[in-house]
Amino acid sequence: MNDVFAFGYAGRKLPTLVQNIKDADAVLVDIRSDPLHRPTWTRRNLEDAFGDRYVWAGDTLGNVLYRTTAIQLVDGVTGMELLLSIAEKHPVALMCVCERESECHRRVIVAELEKFGLRVFHHPPPARATTTASNEDTKQCPECRAWIIFPRKGGRAAADQDAHILREHPESYRRMWAIRATMRNEKWLGAEFVPEAR
Ligand SMILES: [Zn+2]
Ligand SMILES: [Zn+2]
Repeated sequence: MNDVFAFGYAGRKLPTLVQNIKDADAVLVDIRSDPLHRPTWTRRNLEDAFGDRYVWAGDTLGNVLYRTTAIQLVDGVTGMELLLSIAEKHPVALMCVCERESECHRRVIVAELEKFGLRVFHHPPPARATTTASNEDTKQCPECRAWIIFPRKGGRAAADQDAHILREHPESYRRMWAIRATMRNEKWLGAEFVPEAR
């Protein structure tokens, strides 16, 4: 199964998203009940921009009660079947308008997908990093799937990945070092290493 990227398009730019979807070889699944009234983000515009990488699923995964704060999917079972069948072949970009997941009906869809063991990221699929030099290569962050550029020579890939994880995912960084420390038979005490006396 491929990864799922769940997000709202509020504040985002359409051309950037088109590039991200292409780079990730993803399918954009629009879960708005009413995809008509927003300029730029109408169903028609999205069909033109994404071609067959766009699926409107508001007829199953839309929120019947979208004018309220309550959530009731139109036909959640059929919608889930659709998402799982797409995820077999492509990463799924699950898109609504809402910026915050806590205020969006996608949170119940995301919870269902996680029950099926799919990994869900809470941002659009990242665009593939473009390297400028022939001695550069790219690597995808295991935490957020962002692309990291690193020099091909000199063994810097691990260091660059560490730097990204430290900056973007400090919790994981601490966990990672705790694991490494354990492996080295050292004790991890809060912020610093304390090598165990041998
Ligand atoms: Zn929403
Ligand atoms: Zn990351």
